[in-house]
Amino acid sequence: MEHYNITGIGTEGLREKQEDFMATEFVEMEAGRPLMGRVKNPYSSSLSSRQMESLKALCDTYLPSIDGFHTKHDESTARFYQTSASVAGTPQRLGGLISERLQHPKLFMARLALWFLSTSIGTFAMCGIASLSGNFPYLQKFSQVSPEKREQIVLSWSRSIIFPLRLLFTALKVLILLVFFSQVDDKEENLSWKAIGYCGPDPDFKRQTQRIKTLKQMFESAEDQKQDEASAEELFGPLYKGIVNLDRPKQFVFEKLQNAGFSVSASSHLKNAKSKYNRPSFRIKCDAVVVGSGSGGGVVAGILAKAGYKTLVLEKGNYFARTNLSLLEGSTMDQMYLGSGFMATEKMDVIFLAGSTVGGGSAVNWSSSIRTPPHVIKEWSESYELELFDSKLYEEALDAVCQKMGVQSEIENEGFNNMVLRKGCEELGYPVNTIPRNATADHYCGWCCFGCKDGRKKGTLETWLVDLLNSGNGLILPECKAIRVLHKRKNKKKGRHAVGVAFKFQNQGVEEIGIVESKVTIVACGALSTPELLIKSGLKNPNIGKHLHIHPVAMAWGYFPDTTPDPWPEAEKKSYEGGIMTAMSTVVANFEGSGYGAVIQTPALHPGMFSALMPWTSGRDFKDRMCKFSRTAHVFALARDKGSGKLLYPNSITYNMDKIDEENIKRGLEKVLRILASAGAEEIGTHHVKGRSINVKKVSYTEFDKFVKEESSRSLKDLATPICSAHQMGSCRMGVDPKISVANPIGETWEIEGLYLADSSVFPTALGVNPMVTVQAIAYCTAQSVLESLRRKRGKKSEWSVPVEFSKQGNGWNWRTSDEKEIAILKNK
Ligand SMILES: Cc1cc2nc3c(=O)[nH]c(=O)nc-3n(C[C@H](O)[C@H](O)[C@H](O)COP(=O)(O)OP(=O)(O)OC[C@H]3O[C@@H](n4cnc5c(N)ncnc54)[C@H](O)[C@@H]3O)c2cc1C
Repeated sequence: MEHYNITGIGTEGLREKQEDFMATEFVEMEAGRPLMGRVKNPYSSSLSSRQMESLKALCDTYLPSIDGFHTKHDESTARFYQTSASVAGTPQRLGGLISERLQHPKLFMARLALWFLSTSIGTFAMCGIASLSGNFPYLQKFSQVSPEKREQIVLSWSRSIIFPLRLLFTALKVLILLVFFSQVDDKEENLSWKAIGYCGPDPDFKRQTQRIKTLKQMFESAEDQKQDEASAEELFGPLYKGIVNLDRPKQFVFEKLQNAGFSVSASSHLKNAKSKYNRPSFRIKCDAVVVGSGSGGGVVAGILAKAGYKTLVLEKGNYFARTNLSLLEGSTMDQMYLGSGFMATEKMDVIFLAGSTVGGGSAVNWSSSIRTPPHVIKEWSESYELELFDSKLYEEALDAVCQKMGVQSEIENEGFNNMVLRKGCEELGYPVNTIPRNATADHYCGWCCFGCKDGRKKGTLETWLVDLLNSGNGLILPECKAIRVLHKRKNKKKGRHAVGVAFKFQNQGVEEIGIVESKVTIVACGALSTPELLIKSGLKNPNIGKHLHIHPVAMAWGYFPDTTPDPWPEAEKKSYEGGIMTAMSTVVANFEGSGYGAVIQTPALHPGMFSALMPWTSGRDFKDRMCKFSRTAHVFALARDKGSGKLLYPNSITYNMDKIDEENIKRGLEKVLRILASAGAEEIGTHHVKGRSINVKKVSYTEFDKFVKEESSRSLKDLATPICSAHQMGSCRMGVDPKISVANPIGETWEIEGLYLADSSVFPTALGVNPMVTVQAIAYCTAQSVLESLRRKRGKKSEWSVPVEFSKQGNGWNWRTSDEKEIAILKNK
């Protein structure tokens, strides 16, 4: 194996340079929060000035300036009402996002609509007679239409029978409101926050700043190594030693890999000057490569490394150490969530949330840690014939992962939403349980959906990935996106087997390709991304990307003013604070004993998401609703869905809500409205586009009952109500028959030997409860099968020796392996 040293300096010199580099790396880690909102306009817009003019007019329609608040209100409230979205700079930010970040397949329609609205004919076609002026030439473009009429037009889109208009209304509403309420200025403040009662990032976290400064000084001036390491660990988190940043001079990267026992070979760049194909920049040899560091990938990586196998983790997202977090909604969604937090089905009828950072979903999730329910274990082992789930190993896996994450059920201080849910259930006699969490009893935070500031939430980056590094056998490569699983034919009879992964990364602004050669390959990209990688890698199993379950969620809200003489919850409690999920009701969880139904839980909603979900009926009404933000509780119904969706390469997702699932959510919503009222809400409502609400204190029981029945029976489809999903499952399901599944009962793909799947994509059906524990338990079992396979291969070298070459083509990569004359195009956006 060729060892790489391009420096021409001796080992001592190299070490000194390495130390310099490490220090620089830490400083950059600390300062490196290149986040949306930290700079005035982080992304540049490629929209034309005409499109921007329409976008500005639309932003000011959803969030106009409202007059008449000079004397009645305090200064911040008056400013909030007076400031329109364009004055706050929202159109420029949104233009940048549309141009550089969003990847929705219908994005072109939004661009087209903006262009149409910049013409008078296009405006008439999209807006009808409301857009006409009283004076010749009557036709006018959208930006010339009066604000009152623009409001009327936008409202009419929300209820239009023409689906693309409803789609446009929804897309604009979500984007404009989310950006407006999450954007920050240079001081990390948003002009609406004081008015709506939001304090911005966790005040405890802000208070940590001084401690961080002290730690930095200790770290920089530390003379003894132990002190140095202790402060570094507190500053950069327990993974700091094992993160390999490939955007660095190669010699340092290679040193780090080699020091950890990985063989690295560098390729000279162009083999043949005439060929358009380049060799990958380098190859790394290891026993196991794990793609994705989330709930599933983290477990497998930790177990394999601890058992002595050299294990590399490739993670598409970046690494955010505790002290590096921003705890700002806008920047976190942009940097730590899949698709910058803007993932939706093609019809925008489901909004997805999924983590994309070191730790994956477990870094940003809401910490509820529920074991696989017994009726699901029974169904998977009996109806799906997957004996694993009825085995001792699976039981052991559940125990092991819960123990590793420190799952416990105590809560010292319950947060606002969960107090409401618990009290409402108790008043009504509905069952209500305390949710076990992978966090300590005193974990009263509310911001850990933006990463955990102190490590008290035990995601994989505080547990399994720490095992990986402490074992001395593993490293993590963030910002490395796997683009192909490499596999080759063993012999004609035996089929293909996996030999590693090709991945892309940025080095000094240039995109490069690296190769990991491994004995086993584990894909754990999450249910939304694993199918894409398998399809790009040439797998043909028709089940890949199908059977996507999402646990569809619909919410209702209740307003609990703090201006009454004896407010409940107590005046200091805010809707966005406290443990995110601590209470749950199963009152409609098992409808007619079917094992299917809806559980009732609470979300974390900071101003951006809150605004994106709340109904919009006028600019004024919306600002009024936002002023109640900090005292508005949300409770949701989450269905164990029978319906399913499909992932179509490259980035289109479709989902069909089954009638039964819709009914179950409606049953749940009805209970949720009653729970909110019984807990003492003054006003209640749902997210249905009509935006009706009722003041519970001012109506008779009959009127209340009528309202609840009407609102909970409204359609949930076709954009009538926003549906969210934070749990995606089943898109490469496990089974006993290759005709209906992608992975076999030990997690290995049917098509390629040595290629294992270890994430939520392998679920045979939807689960019905929060999936992290189940993902981890299945991954734990898959890791045992991988260990078996590695034991058999012990002593053997990893086998990849086929030359792979790549050439850049537009947005994608062409690649070929010369042994099989195989050529494909990988389009990697
Ligand atoms: C906001 C939110 C709240 C949640 N709350 C809870 C909760 O309270 N309890 C619970 O049980 N569950 C919760 N979940 C769900 C839970 O976190 C997920 O179900 C679980 O993490 C899924 O695990 P996974 O391994 O399938 O994927 P993930 O944990 O999503 O990890 C996949 C990782 O793979 C990376 N990746 C993708 N493609 C590539 C590629 N090509 N190359 C390299 N890396 C790649 C991604 O960046 C990501 O980091 C929540 C999820 C979210 C988003």
